[in-house]
Amino acid sequence: MIPKISSARTIGLITLVSIIISILITIFIMEIFGSGIDAITLSISIIAPAIIAPSVTWYIVCLLVKIHQLEKEQRALATYDMLTGLLVRRAFLSKSKALFQLAKRNNSLLSLAYIDIDNFKKINDKYGHAGGDAVLESFGVNLRKSMRKSDLLGRIGGEEFAIVLPDTDMKGAIHKLEKIRFLIKTRTVDVSNQSIQYTVSIGVATFDKNNQVDLEQLIMQSDNALYNAKNSGKDCIVEYKFGKVVNIPEFELKTQL
Ligand code: GH3
Ligand code: MG
Ligand code: MG
Repeated sequence: MIPKISSARTIGLITLVSIIISILITIFIMEIFGSGIDAITLSISIIAPAIIAPSVTWYIVCLLVKIHQLEKEQRALATYDMLTGLLVRRAFLSKSKALFQLAKRNNSLLSLAYIDIDNFKKINDKYGHAGGDAVLESFGVNLRKSMRKSDLLGRIGGEEFAIVLPDTDMKGAIHKLEKIRFLIKTRTVDVSNQSIQYTVSIGVATFDKNNQVDLEQLIMQSDNALYNAKNSGKDCIVEYKFGKVVNIPEFELKTQL
């Protein structure tokens, strides 16, 4: 990338200062040796810095711009998952901590969902790693499209995802998540002339007046609910409620849509 106009101004200024310094040094040296002001030497003292100073400064500016770009890329890599564009586990947990503390302080609600792609190993086996990756990528896109900007989306494992829904009660969270589950189930991922169909299982827990837990406990609750969703035949949502995991009957989900 070429540095901006402001860099060109800086280069001009540095060149001017270099020329002035060079002239002053040349005059000073000529005075010391008593050789008088020589026009050729004086011209060289102007031309040399006029050529060298901008080239060296330009090189340094380009180098600084490149370093800045690399630092930005590295920061993005440490925060976002390359395949899905969602937050990586570490960044997700640290940001969810902040949201959770805010919810606790404001006495507001917060729901946390754990999502796991069903039979993903079989997808990899049948369609290859590229097929599996296409599914992960597509899931990331669907999640980003479906959720609010204020929701926190993370890829916390290979085919495991988590969502923090601030200011959302269990009913609201299930309503949203069921839409996602249905969307995923009814769409295909097209890769190399093949259509891949897949489903997801979801566990959800809510921090509210009936469930005054800390973040670690809330994570455990939604993980437990997800575990139950897997044991209940997959492709479903299970909520964690008052110390137990509750399966949501299919008819109840339909009325919520
Ligand atoms: P379940 O329905 O119980 O969740 O079963 P599963 O097959 O989805 O889960 P399991 O944990 O047995 O397999 C997960 C697989 O995900 C194993 C691993 O090779 C694969 N995997 C993890 N990360 C990636 C990735 O980035 N790309 C691809 N293609 N596969 C991945
Ligand atoms: Mg899985
Ligand atoms: Mg898994």
